[in-house]
Amino acid sequence: MRLHDTWRKDIVEIVPATPGVLRIYACGPTVYRDAHVGNMRTFLLTDLIRRTAQWSGMQVRLVQNITDVGHMADDTGLGGAGLGGIDEGQGDTEDRVLRQAAVEGRGALDIARHYEAAFHRDLAALNIHPADDYPRASEWIDAMVRLIERLMTTGHAYVGTDGSVFFDARSYAGYGELSGNRLDDLRPGHRFEGSTDPAKRFHADWALWKHAGPTRTQLVWDTPWGRGFPGWHTECSAMSLELLGDSIDVHTGGIDLRFPHHEDERAQSNCATDREVVRHWVHAEHLLFEGRKMSKSAGNVVLVADMAGRGLDPLSLRLAFLQHRYRQQMNLTWQVLQAAHDTLQRWRGRVADWANEPSAAASGPHVEQVAAHFADDLDTPRAIQVLRELERDTTVAAGSKFETFAMLDRLLGLDLARDVGRVARPVDVPAEVRDLVDRRAQARADKDWKASDALRDQISARGYAVIDTPDGQQVGPA
Ligand SMILES: [Zn+2]
Repeated sequence: MRLHDTWRKDIVEIVPATPGVLRIYACGPTVYRDAHVGNMRTFLLTDLIRRTAQWSGMQVRLVQNITDVGHMADDTGLGGAGLGGIDEGQGDTEDRVLRQAAVEGRGALDIARHYEAAFHRDLAALNIHPADDYPRASEWIDAMVRLIERLMTTGHAYVGTDGSVFFDARSYAGYGELSGNRLDDLRPGHRFEGSTDPAKRFHADWALWKHAGPTRTQLVWDTPWGRGFPGWHTECSAMSLELLGDSIDVHTGGIDLRFPHHEDERAQSNCATDREVVRHWVHAEHLLFEGRKMSKSAGNVVLVADMAGRGLDPLSLRLAFLQHRYRQQMNLTWQVLQAAHDTLQRWRGRVADWANEPSAAASGPHVEQVAAHFADDLDTPRAIQVLRELERDTTVAAGSKFETFAMLDRLLGLDLARDVGRVARPVDVPAEVRDLVDRRAQARADKDWKASDALRDQISARGYAVIDTPDGQQVGPA
């Protein structure tokens, strides 16, 4: 499999450090609100990498964090653009989870668990397979403290005046390689968390651990440096190193996490281990909705739940994403979603029809082409194009089309065989047709396939369709 590596600025062959096992770390949600469709595009990227790796026979070990503490409103340094391009407005320095807890009048962890559950529901609706681990930042504080201690002993971190701990950006020569932001070019006024501490040695140093002021009573922990909470970047370094080790094959996230989140994470992890921890950084591009960046203030934030409200299958969102490559900026519209919904319904209907035709092996060339496009830096638009061509191809037997679509759904995740066996709704079937169905059951029990097919023709001549399911025949209007 080849993927675009942000650090190398090139498409590279992904060769896992351990042959046959792909270790992936995916930046997960900050659980203070529902994930929007832009977030889902990023989460889907990880799922596609995983499915492609599994298709080629690799095992995948996937860890995705749940940020339930420490993600401040201005942590991106860019005015608060979170995962996937949402603009939250110029942020303050409040913890997002605590701010939402105050808004909703609930406890911080109450809020966090509520939105974490919503996140899992959204993933399931989009057929995104669950990760092996979903570490919650609030439950890995010890690992973060150990990481910070290691960075202090190796001279990459120092304590400020109030008990915050800072990473010394200038202590890492590789800083800026991921994002192209060189330390010399960063504006001194550039907003970084913890920037008010007078003990901070350099404007681009960032807080690994943040001192908690007297008003903060939730999500605080005691450490050798005082009472506080972890920085968002610290969390991902600590949890990825603990759960995946010091060689991570692929690290994914939205493109707006490249700086400062991933740049800082790379500096921390590499300095703590004295090696290049992440072998490949892979980023999903921005998503626009109806031509605009989604934002709370513009009121155009779209959630997975909004799909159902419009009568759209949530998986039409998945198909719409597949029709665009992950690293192209994409403009999603209701029209695109409706078209994807229509395609999905049509494909499922066809697959159910083809399932009734004589069985045939999958079309090898089509399977290979689609798999090759997935492996070629997730060229999903071309993979979808191959499926459209196969749908129309009159030289391929219907039974073969069924097998091909069903097999490739392991990569696509579109539930294409969902309607197979569902043709029959309970309906009044005339006695004459019922009789043919019974005779066909007997013919099949006798393994007389010729008689079985002839009876099906007679049934179909009377305007009915019969299909074979694990529970026996089902019959309904054709
Ligand atoms: Zn992260």
